[in-house]
Amino acid sequence: MKKFVLIALGLLAAGISATAGEKVFALATAGDVEAALAERVRVRLEENAGVVVRPAAALAVEPGQSLEAIGRAAAKTLGENDHGIIVLARPADDQPQGVCLPHERFAALNVAKLEAGADAEHVERRAVQEGLRVMSMLLKMAPCPFPLCVLVGYEKVEDLDQMSGNYCPPCLDRFTRYAREAGLRTIDPLAAEAALAAEAVPAAEPAPAAEEAAPAAEAAAPAVE
Ligand SMILES: [Zn+2]
Repeated sequence: MKKFVLIALGLLAAGISATAGEKVFALATAGDVEAALAERVRVRLEENAGVVVRPAAALAVEPGQSLEAIGRAAAKTLGENDHGIIVLARPADDQPQGVCLPHERFAALNVAKLEAGADAEHVERRAVQEGLRVMSMLLKMAPCPFPLCVLVGYEKVEDLDQMSGNYCPPCLDRFTRYAREAGLRTIDPLAAEAALAAEAVPAAEPAPAAEEAAPAAEAAAPAVE
């Protein structure tokens, strides 16, 4: 424990590692996708996942550009504090419903496919569900076998309407833990407080001086597991 804390503080001091708790997800649109829809989806992703999702600049779709290429272009816009980017895209051609490449830190969702047989309300709900699914993938979480969870496997886009709109409690716990380990900024004040309280205690004992110098968020930084 002591070693971890000291090493982490050393890295922070050297500026090698980003400050923990500062990473965010970015959400962009590409092609003909309403900014208002993206904003509603962004807010609901924050509410459901408890991490910050920042709005990113809209991207153009080039003729014949694949969904994967759109996602890759979006990944090029990633900022220093972005963990990954989610794109609500309308590709020009027929493309898959979604592409998520965690190692390239992007997920592109095909709004045209999400619209199949759905009214506006359901399109938004499906986009939130798919957003939550790819956010878990971008944190390298496994799917969930629990039927009442948004991370359960499904076949057709219509199946989403019968599924939960959120993570099941164990998945939410896991998501929160993975998010914290990835240095993501959480937005649930109670959860954030509890996490800091839980992690600040062991860090405080071996290095009281460092604890004073470092804000609580940094003291909670090292992945102690
Ligand atoms: Zn689950």
